[in-house]
Parts: sequence; structure tokens; C-alpha cells
Amino acid sequence: MRIGILGDIHGNMEALTAVVAALRKEGVDEWVQVGDLVGYGPEPSACIDLVRELGCHVCLGNHDAAVLGLLDTSYFNNFARAAIHWTCQNLRPSDLDYLRKLQLTVMRPDYTVVHGTLHMPEQFGYVISPVEALDSLALQTTPFCFVGHSHVPAIYLQRSANPRDIEVVYHSEPEVSVKGYQRVLMNVGSVGQPRDEDPRAAYAIVDTLTGIAAIRRVAYDIAGVQRKIRQAGLPEMLANRLSLGV
Ligand code: ZN
Repeated sequence: MRIGILGDIHGNMEALTAVVAALRKEGVDEWVQVGDLVGYGPEPSACIDLVRELGCHVCLGNHDAAVLGLLDTSYFNNFARAAIHWTCQNLRPSDLDYLRKLQLTVMRPDYTVVHGTLHMPEQFGYVISPVEALDSLALQTTPFCFVGHSHVPAIYLQRSANPRDIEVVYHSEPEVSVKGYQRVLMNVGSVGQPRDEDPRAAYAIVDTLTGIAAIRRVAYDIAGVQRKIRQAGLPEMLANRLSLGV
């Protein structure tokens, strides 16, 4: 089975369509999305429509929770908070109904999906180093776990239950063979707002037959989404950061 995994989309339809086209070319049997469909970007409804059309297995992100009023936005920075406010005013009732049904964790036979960490999904903490990866891996009962939230890709591999036994592949485009590993935790990066200084959209693909897990990058129409961000009256900084991948 080939699993296509979409990281944080954040209402960036240009990036999402580029990633979906790339994954369709590779061939995907099952689609996953790790939360944060909305927030920051100018086309949250169109992104929700495409994710629904793909039949993605989706979990709840912190920006999704914020537009539902489930999360206090006082810890968001000013730009993020302004975007949440804009998104609340621009979503359709059907979008909110869809987001309201999302769960903090989604479990399938081969994988678990959570936005932040498995050990405290409701806190929306980050997996950015082996420290947090180990806390999540300790609770991981499926071969794979897919997370997002940091917008920075990395793959954490564990051969046994020994907590010190962890290997990490930090790279913009990591590709690994997972054969021989008990658990694999993938931070799949971000479709719509990468922050690892590589502005290309990120996506992940796992082939459970060949045992290859990869995060790939694809160029997309950044100028197009920047235009829409400015037309929507969203903060200028949200447009500028996309060219830099920060
Ligand atoms: Zn995010």
C-alpha cells in the first residue's frame, strides 16, 4: 500500500494542488493529512473541499481548533491571530461542521496521525528533536506515526523499545528504508508554509510493501498565493515568508 501524507496546508491552494498532482503521479492508495487545513492562507474552503474529495484521514490541528473556538489564541503571534480572525469570517458553515468532526488522533492498522505529539495531543507540542520523538514513540502502537505542526521535516526511526535506540534523518528530502525498524515517526513538514528555508511544498509518501519512506519537495506558484494573500487583506508578512520558506 502506498500512503500519501499531506502536512500542514494552511489554506494554500497553490501548494496543495501541486502536492496532490505530484502524489497522484507517484500513485497513492490512501491519503492522510496531519491537521492545520486552515489558518494563514487565503483559500481555506477550497483546501477543505480538496481534502474531503481525496477521502483523507485527517486529524485536528491547532489552527483548526482555534477557528472552532476550542483553543485560546492568546499564545498565537499577532499574524497568526489576525489570520485566525480572518479565517473565522471566511469559512462556510459546512467547513466548520467538517472541522468539528476531526479528532486529535486518528489510528489505522499501519499508522497513527496526530498534529503535534502522541504523548500530549491536546497540548499541540512540537516534535523537533529526539527528546519529544521518544515520548511519542513510547506510546506508538502502529508501525508508522505521522505528525506535522513544526513545518520542518524529519524522520525518527526506532529498532527496539530501548529508549536510547533512535536514529534521526534531518533533511529537506529524507528517503529511508524502514526495514528492520519497529517504529517510524515522520514529521512530514508543511504543504502550505514550509519553515526549513526551503520554500518548496513538502509531502510524504510511504510504501508499506517496499519499506521506503520519503519526504519530497515540489515547486509551486508562490507568487500566485502571495497575490491572493494580499488581495484578501491578510498580513503582508504571511505572503513574504513563503518566498523564504520561514
Ligand atoms: Zn501549522
